[in-house]
Amino acid sequence: MTALRPEVAESDPNRKSDDRPLAVDATPSESTGLVELHESIATLLASRGQWRQAYQHLRSALDLVYADQEEQPRVPEQLRREVDRLRKEHAEAREQSLRDSLTDSYNRRYLDQRLLAILTERGTSRHGLAIALMDLDWFKRVNDTFGHLLGDRVLQRVVELLQADLPADAFCARYGGEEFVLVLPSVTATTSVAIVEAARERVERHEWAGIAPGLRVTVSGGVAYEPPADALPARPAVSAEQQLLRADSLLYTAKRSGRNAVAYRESGRVKLAGPAAGRRAVSDSRVLGYY
Ligand code: GH3
Ligand code: MG
Ligand code: MG
Repeated sequence: MTALRPEVAESDPNRKSDDRPLAVDATPSESTGLVELHESIATLLASRGQWRQAYQHLRSALDLVYADQEEQPRVPEQLRREVDRLRKEHAEAREQSLRDSLTDSYNRRYLDQRLLAILTERGTSRHGLAIALMDLDWFKRVNDTFGHLLGDRVLQRVVELLQADLPADAFCARYGGEEFVLVLPSVTATTSVAIVEAARERVERHEWAGIAPGLRVTVSGGVAYEPPADALPARPAVSAEQQLLRADSLLYTAKRSGRNAVAYRESGRVKLAGPAAGRRAVSDSRVLGYY
């Protein structure tokens, strides 16, 4: 028998040639494996909206299940390769859909998905969560002075610098325009500020003149930290949106303090990290709902 029913594929004159499953000669062995392969291909094709081809593979799987077989067909190499290729394509397409095309950092879709997953796990997690909003300083001037293309290169380099030394479970996502989010899922408040301040410093210290003479780039940031869920049992859970809003307010404080700074909140007071600590941190009245 032919495992993939070429006789069915060819009986319909309206069928396009690329609609039909691979026609492969298989000796009867391992039919369970073949059924699974057809199902895998069907699932992958369906996830790409190729319903007709998916259906043909499901039909082939069903035929195998219902066939009265003493011996089981061998899984043909062609089929294995098709599954591998489709799986790879599927994984690549999925990864692409979660990346920002300019900077290759993660995008808003990934950020939303991951934050939802992290906050869902929070009930059982013994770790805190820090979210930092980072914004390039005076970036409009960079574009105006050096051109938009160079501005694009700056954004790419800033992403590299921001994510250069993050913990393994942390990530950087483009929030929009020249704003990026650093998500640090398992840190203490103190560590989170140190990590974000180090990222700010990497950007400040980078050899920007190597890209264009006279170019200087800095970023400002706001770090909103949420302690582990069981640390403050009386306190209601904070949504990702609320935490991002708080990070945004702190970013605003860092900007108003003179930029190139990271603002955070400690014991109810807004502070600036690193060398900016000596400046006056102008507390932002937009910061609502703090405990
Ligand atoms: P501030 O320090 O207050 O943040 O000042 P700023 O100039 O950085 O802020 P503003 O919001 O005035 O300008 C942001 C600029 O970022 C304007 C916009 O053209 C630029 N920008 C946003 N996305 C991109 C991009 O993908 N590529 C380039 N080259 N520029 C971008
Ligand atoms: Mg901005
Ligand atoms: Mg900016």
